[in-house]
Amino acid sequence: MDQNSPETMAAIRAAIKASALCERIRTDLAGKESLLKSDRSPVTIADYGSQAIVCKMIREEFPHDTIVAEEDSKELRKSDRLKILEQVTNYVNAFIPVSSSEEVCSWIDFGSNSVTDRFWALDPIDGTKGFLRGDQYAIALALIEKGKVALGVLACPNLYTDVYHPFGKKGCLFLALRGKGSFQMDSAGANKRSIFVSKAKSPSEAIITESVEPDHADHLTHQRLAQKLNISKLSLRMDSQAKYGILARGEVTLYLRVPSPAEPSYKENIWDHAAGSIIAEEAGGRVTDILGRPLDFSSGIKMEKNRGVLVSNGILHEVVLKALEM
Ligand code: AMP
Ligand code: MG
Repeated sequence: MDQNSPETMAAIRAAIKASALCERIRTDLAGKESLLKSDRSPVTIADYGSQAIVCKMIREEFPHDTIVAEEDSKELRKSDRLKILEQVTNYVNAFIPVSSSEEVCSWIDFGSNSVTDRFWALDPIDGTKGFLRGDQYAIALALIEKGKVALGVLACPNLYTDVYHPFGKKGCLFLALRGKGSFQMDSAGANKRSIFVSKAKSPSEAIITESVEPDHADHLTHQRLAQKLNISKLSLRMDSQAKYGILARGEVTLYLRVPSPAEPSYKENIWDHAAGSIIAEEAGGRVTDILGRPLDFSSGIKMEKNRGVLVSNGILHEVVLKALEM
């Protein structure tokens, strides 16, 4: 797989289109007074719309590939969801001409949940809570061959491109190819540059990133670990796999994901880590679970053989694994 492979080009094209759709939905609907806080309709519309677009574009190029994706159209086809389905169809139609709601449902249902020898893993919107808050979210797409991620594309439509200008240009597209490196582009796929993890050698120089949601990770254990390692800088809380992106470009040094006490035996979904992990690894980082085991992308939609996730700049990995034994 290289930068001009049909797989790479198709994944980038699909991620660009899906992020444009998500941003349009977010700006159209997020501020609407009619949407109560608990109303998840913008995210629902965006989830389905994003999955329809990516599945359609990948299936068109690779008709024999399996796509493992988070959503299916079952809920959407229910009679009380008619309005949502109509909105999904209209939004999708603005990006890819579509003949009917039925056709949109059929694109969504290209997604399956069986893992094969070669398959795509898709999270049409990762970080749904961030999407609703107007914070970070991502469209994550990875190609997995024989249990190993071969290609990862991560679109982060709301992520600043330059850490020194956090209120400047937004929209990042990360790409990684096994053995070929990691790259960042802008949201149109232009201005490509190689990215590398931080060279921090001492834990005291490290910056940790972690989930915003306390139900998704054990913030207290992360804090204890920071104390133990003399990490004094504040942790950066961020939604979605954007955390892998900022680690891959050297802004933070560690991404900790110790299972939350709210759900200590939680098993991570493959689409929540496949694209991000290769982006961190190809930028020089290391990705394992919190016991040092490689992430398991071959057992099914859940990473059954893993517990939590640890991502580092490589240099600090062993010392953090040791400290996690506490
Ligand atoms: P983040 O934005 O890093 O908090 O991660 C968002 C992802 O967390 C979602 O896509 C969910 O699949 C996943 N998730 C849901 N429940 C849990 C949980 N109890 N522990 C860890 N991750 C979870
Ligand atoms: Mg997700």
